[in-house]
Amino acid sequence: MNDNIFQHFFDAQHNLNKAFIETDKGEVFTYADVFNLSGQIANTLRAAGLKPDDRVAAQVEKSITALALYLAVVRCGAIFLPLNTAYTDSEMAYFLDDAKPRILVCDPARAIASPKFTTLTLSANSAGTLVERAKTQSTDFTTAQRSRDDLAAILYTSGTTGKSKGAMLSHGNLLSNAKSLVQIWHFTADDILIHALPTYHTHGLFVASNTILLASATMIYLPKFDADQIIALMPRATTLMGVPTFYTRLLAHPKLDKATTKNIRLFISGSAPLLAETHREWSLKTGHAILERYGMTETNMNSSNPYDGERIAGSVGFPLPDVDIRIDAPQGEIGMIEIKGPNVFKGYWRNPEKTAAEFRDGYFISGDLGRFDAHGYLHIVGRGKDLVITGGFNVYPIEIENEIDAIDGVLESAVIGLPHKDFGEAVTAIVVKNGDVTEAKIKSALNIKLAKFKQPKAIIFVESLPRNAMGKVQKNVLREMFKSPSP
Ligand code: AMP
Repeated sequence: MNDNIFQHFFDAQHNLNKAFIETDKGEVFTYADVFNLSGQIANTLRAAGLKPDDRVAAQVEKSITALALYLAVVRCGAIFLPLNTAYTDSEMAYFLDDAKPRILVCDPARAIASPKFTTLTLSANSAGTLVERAKTQSTDFTTAQRSRDDLAAILYTSGTTGKSKGAMLSHGNLLSNAKSLVQIWHFTADDILIHALPTYHTHGLFVASNTILLASATMIYLPKFDADQIIALMPRATTLMGVPTFYTRLLAHPKLDKATTKNIRLFISGSAPLLAETHREWSLKTGHAILERYGMTETNMNSSNPYDGERIAGSVGFPLPDVDIRIDAPQGEIGMIEIKGPNVFKGYWRNPEKTAAEFRDGYFISGDLGRFDAHGYLHIVGRGKDLVITGGFNVYPIEIENEIDAIDGVLESAVIGLPHKDFGEAVTAIVVKNGDVTEAKIKSALNIKLAKFKQPKAIIFVESLPRNAMGKVQKNVLREMFKSPSP
């Protein structure tokens, strides 16, 4: 028995001539096309020296080839390491040094020559050395033997200490979660998913793509979110997975109504809290109750509102069938959410101390605060960790604060998330000066240091930061002081 997830994806597929991916340009890629391309890429990677358990870092735009690259890496028994295309050169240097990949795949314009790894290139329109070499390779490739605990991917999460940590995910983690999602969300080969999420994050890569693969379904692959395009595609599709920002933007579209959404059987939301108001407005306008689920990079998906049965606005539903969720507080009260199950990652890459610190009796300490209501629905009420979620992306304030504090003329700073209609939360920096510094100077200094989504949308100068008796900055006070409707 081979536990390689690749084997399961293609074993599930009885009709290889079925459409797997359609693009917005009208191209159709069958399961056979992607299977063969993965074989050619796997042979290319192996020829470049890739061995089982080696890492392949990929900072590439979303494309069919990029997805085939993910499949090829796991097929080789190696470890896929997707990286946000927004990461700057200095952020990339950290990831490459930490993960020590055997191969880096990146855009030709950002190719890095290094004696430590081999660089192959892949552009947004699938040009570059990876594809050139793959074309000369055979499509035949024997899928590497893997056990359930072998690693399939490392996904970097931001750390509260300011350093990103690599979450190690095994074939068993990914497969168990994909199986559960197919089952609880009733995915079948007849489904067509609108896929407008990025593929360097657990949501677009695993929740969406793995579920579709395991269900032998089809997805319409869009490079990014575009409300007009999604509205136009709805009559052909059956499901949509999105972050809350997708739903608030779609709600503002004049064509969103019951007729446009008639063919969709399921709207799913996750990665950040969906406002109860959005849930209600969506139901009124379309007649569909959005199904909200809760997950994280380290654990894949943990809980979901029911397919049949009431989907409660503001709740993230019930634990998945094989997931155990406990709260370290008496029933009904708020406490830390802790998670155990086959979905929970194997630990942080080369960081056993951090891994040990985040587990208690086999349960992963999520950092999210929540409570179970009397009907068993889980409600997330806040974040124990000091995280800002903007447009579905996580931003850890300490990383931004460290960069701001290093700028000449800055005494100290506090980064918070403020409510924002479009992004959910907007990264906002509160800064105390000790010299001649301007908003423009801070913004241009951060521009070369931080990915765009991490850069503050606003910078507010204050005389001093509010602190409690222990000397800790009171971010709740700052959030209250500067809470005003977003522009
Ligand atoms: P990530 O690792 O990027 O997937 O982010 C995980 C974090 O996103 C979780 O720890 C939660 O804080 C948050 N999150 C994900 N889904 C939800 C949800 N449905 N409601 C509230 N927060 C969520």
